[in-house]
Amino acid sequence: MSVCTTCPYCGVGCGINTDGERLSGDNAHPANAGRLCVKGSSVLETLGDQDRLLEPEIQGRTVSWEKALGEVADRFRRVIDQHGPDAVAFYVSGQLLTEDYYVANKLMKGYIGSANIDTNSRLCMSSAVVAHKRAFGEDVVPGCYDDLELADLVILTGSNTAWAHPIVYQRIAAAKAERPAMKVVVIDPRRTATCDLADLHLAINPGQDVTLFNALLGWLADNNGLDDDYIRDHTEGLEQALAQAGQGHRHAGKLAAQLGLSRQDLDSFFHWFRDTPRTVTVFSQGINQSRNGSDQGNAIINAHLATGRVGKPGASPFSITGQPNAMGGREVGGLANQLAVHLDIENPDHRQAVQTFWQSPTLADHAGLNAVDLFRAVESGQVKAVWIMATNPVDSLPEADRVRHALMACDTVVVSDCVASGDTLACADIKLPALGWGEKSGMVTNSERCMSRQRAFVPAPGLARPDWWIITQVARRMGFARGFEYQHEQEIFAEYAALTAEAVRFGKRLDLTAAAGLSADQYERWLPARWPLQGADRCFADGRFSTASGRARFVPCAPPPSVETRAEFPLLLNSGRIRDQWHTMTRTGRAGRLFAHLSEPFAALHPNDIQRFRLCDGGFVRLTSRVGDALVRVRADAGQQPGTAFMPMHWTDQFSRRARVDALVPARLDPHSGQPAFKHTPVNVSDW
Ligand code: SF4
Repeated sequence: MSVCTTCPYCGVGCGINTDGERLSGDNAHPANAGRLCVKGSSVLETLGDQDRLLEPEIQGRTVSWEKALGEVADRFRRVIDQHGPDAVAFYVSGQLLTEDYYVANKLMKGYIGSANIDTNSRLCMSSAVVAHKRAFGEDVVPGCYDDLELADLVILTGSNTAWAHPIVYQRIAAAKAERPAMKVVVIDPRRTATCDLADLHLAINPGQDVTLFNALLGWLADNNGLDDDYIRDHTEGLEQALAQAGQGHRHAGKLAAQLGLSRQDLDSFFHWFRDTPRTVTVFSQGINQSRNGSDQGNAIINAHLATGRVGKPGASPFSITGQPNAMGGREVGGLANQLAVHLDIENPDHRQAVQTFWQSPTLADHAGLNAVDLFRAVESGQVKAVWIMATNPVDSLPEADRVRHALMACDTVVVSDCVASGDTLACADIKLPALGWGEKSGMVTNSERCMSRQRAFVPAPGLARPDWWIITQVARRMGFARGFEYQHEQEIFAEYAALTAEAVRFGKRLDLTAAAGLSADQYERWLPARWPLQGADRCFADGRFSTASGRARFVPCAPPPSVETRAEFPLLLNSGRIRDQWHTMTRTGRAGRLFAHLSEPFAALHPNDIQRFRLCDGGFVRLTSRVGDALVRVRADAGQQPGTAFMPMHWTDQFSRRARVDALVPARLDPHSGQPAFKHTPVNVSDW
């Protein structure tokens, strides 16, 4: 029997039809209309029992579910009783389904009484969350994918869209082929595959996005580029943003030199932006994963507010998420500093509303630890029991070796995962077998707020169970029988949908109330739908925002922090995705053909740097930073700026010893979002 489900990889959220043996893109899905990239089209090759975690284990010994669940509940209960609720933590993932995320958040914030639940979405999107909340009063992506095809100017900044979000790229490419007058600008220090589509590639110096978009704002103000009516009727704070933006745009030569661009290219960009009402600016990890990622996001949004281009057909800022359900996790409160349904943990009225709805014994009243601080707290012993679900922090967090040591020394590390081995699983005291894609069932939300079903089409292997079931079983054994009686994921989703009535009451756009009473049959037949469920496809088109005043806010964005000393570490290392792999390769590493594109870890350097450091193209090199090192093959790449390097983020110790890029990355965080700066790590390189 064929099912409609959703791709397990990136935040584009493509629909898939499959019977388990054959697979095709879902023609009816609004994200992809039948298209699939190489990762999505090979996903069936990653299924099977090989290296699956099939039974619960305690200290390496197979145990029954009863024993494992009781052990987790007892250990967490003991720590809470002795040291308080903030001595335990959950670290979850954008791979979880919305229902899993919802009950994990409910258990930690509403029943344990701590907000120590954070997600690996902290690593990819939390700066965009801050930017959205500061500007719009809510974490909302205003536009939808259709806007990419309606736009006359698409700006792709901090995004190798061709590789990281291939179907978004294909949609833009198809629109441009149909309307060649449509312009594409790529802003990226590297020349990537995405630049093949660009009318203009701005190879900006690393970390200078605020400088560029501040200059754009100032230039628009000086050159009749502002939408005065929109600014007057729907926004606040332009004067302060302009004051902070300064007048760098008036010194074109100096500005161009600072950005590393030609005056002509800068001029073209400013004029194209001013003169193209239908402009979409897509931003992603290159913006978010910086020490000033939140300000970089707001500098982009400022330019859109100044021109009245928010939530209109073909005109919006557009944050593209990394993971399949990063958005769903954000909706139900997966970040340590927010409640469910876009409500704020600092707001007593919001807390009261959530606690009353849940009828829970308590509710966390302060933000919990963000991802990096959470593992620091494990290291210091402040957190004594941690439960990691569907993610691999030993490879994906900055200062990855330090994370490994912290977990090895921790009293209780519980890992629920669908695979049997991995760098984080090696640190686990208790392993809980979870269902994987194709076996589990639930909801995901993609980058355009479109909620789609993942559906099971193969039987559960061994004793593996859904994450929501594992969490609720532990909750019951911790003494929280009431509140976790669910028998099916549909009941959880219906409860979440009902809770969004509170979001609506507080003026938020996250409205799923139409699904509050949905039946099991309606849930099963769910078709992809954007929220707000009974609203328009775009948010804020009416000029009314989710802030207290109803106005959007310009945010003054400070100039970028200065680059650290370059004497000892003369290269700036960037990390990111390659075309055919996903995260730490837990799934894509199982499909042989996905290694045909790029088969091994590498460091890409400009040919001049290969010469400068007396390296041999194709030889092995050692990269060192102030926190770690890595051994990889070096590749000459004329698309790199001299003085920079690039390494893929995917390889782990499981696949290649000492090629983990995050062992090199120091934990430098954006002060507003707590998101680590993965993009500009000072490193040295030497022949191995
Ligand atoms: Fe899957 Fe993303 Fe490829 Fe779509 S673009 S098929 S969601 S990996």
